[in-house]
Amino acid sequence: MIYYIVSAGIAFILSALISMKVISQKNNKNQEVLSMQTYILGTVIQLRATGKKSKVAIDKAIKRLYEIDDKMSVFKNNSDISKINKSAGIRPEKVSEDTYYVIKKAIQYAHLSQGAFEPTIRPLVKLYNFGNEGTRIPSKEEINKALKLVNYKDVIINDENKSIMLRNKDQSLDLGAIAKGYAADEVKRIFEGYGIKSAIIDLGGNIYALGKKADNTSWNIGIQNPLGSTGQYLGVLGVSNKSVVTSGNYERYFEEDGKRYHHIINPKTGYPCENGIISTTIISDYSIDGDGLTTCGYVMGLKYGFKLIENTRGVDAIFITSDRKVYVTSGIRDKFTLTNKEYLLQEYSLEEYYEKEVV
Ligand code: AMP
Ligand code: MG
Repeated sequence: MIYYIVSAGIAFILSALISMKVISQKNNKNQEVLSMQTYILGTVIQLRATGKKSKVAIDKAIKRLYEIDDKMSVFKNNSDISKINKSAGIRPEKVSEDTYYVIKKAIQYAHLSQGAFEPTIRPLVKLYNFGNEGTRIPSKEEINKALKLVNYKDVIINDENKSIMLRNKDQSLDLGAIAKGYAADEVKRIFEGYGIKSAIIDLGGNIYALGKKADNTSWNIGIQNPLGSTGQYLGVLGVSNKSVVTSGNYERYFEEDGKRYHHIINPKTGYPCENGIISTTIISDYSIDGDGLTTCGYVMGLKYGFKLIENTRGVDAIFITSDRKVYVTSGIRDKFTLTNKEYLLQEYSLEEYYEKEVV
């Protein structure tokens, strides 16, 4: 039964006519399952919750998602991030607790990955115009100029008054690789506050699977086939109370002369990351960590990235390479089923990728 359909204001226009859809259904235990779809944080949001208070929980979650977008979007003039970017090289800007927390986490992942995760990547991303109309290949000169501005060590954090400053003029932050993870954690927190025990929180492929399905079995999360069309999965992962986040070269890209230019940039070269990886998925308790680590893993590649995750407690990963190999960390091997026979489940071998890696 269609519950109601309303337009979602400005997001409606920006999202190429995706309206807010809310659908109410009964599951096989006669419980009401509320699903809604809309467009926030530059992506399609799908929330699905079972519980008496699912309507109010979803409403509050949507409000919170707009709030996070208002604070962290690079496209909104008054966001904390835009303020920091405009004041680069001039003065520190006091920011909200939310933005402060996410920036701290971003810097943590920049350190962990030795700059593969790079929160000051914006000058490069902007050159390609990702996230806007009119994407293009920048010139070598433009890339070299932008590269000089990219350095997470230039993010000056004042813990006492929660202010942030970028050391040099024209430097610019971009939380696109981590903010959705934080947002998913916030939706989960809100859902739990309203007693929701079973839900799927999907922020454009950044998923949190809360509790279990009505039949008390784990959620089955499809892992996108990076070489297939949207919604075509290459395998299934059974999870409960876990975040499942994927970074892929198919999420945002354009093609010119048969070459794909995607949105995950190698901060050392200034060009889209090309190290044989076409998608990384991270399974973790917190989605902010999953989101941070997917980007780390993608840029670091198999040799360094996969090893990093294998050696990190409580976190697992699925790495997929362009030669159709699927690498799964030991913690989730029994939970992942490869369904697409064009791919090969591969044991990780250090030697094989030694020559190929570019970080
Ligand atoms: P994700 O899909 O989580 O890997 O995030 C990709 C988004 O993060 C891009 O659309 C850019 O806005 C930004 N980004 C691109 N390259 C990097 C990088 N090396 N480190 C951090 N953020 C990046
Ligand atoms: Mg990420």
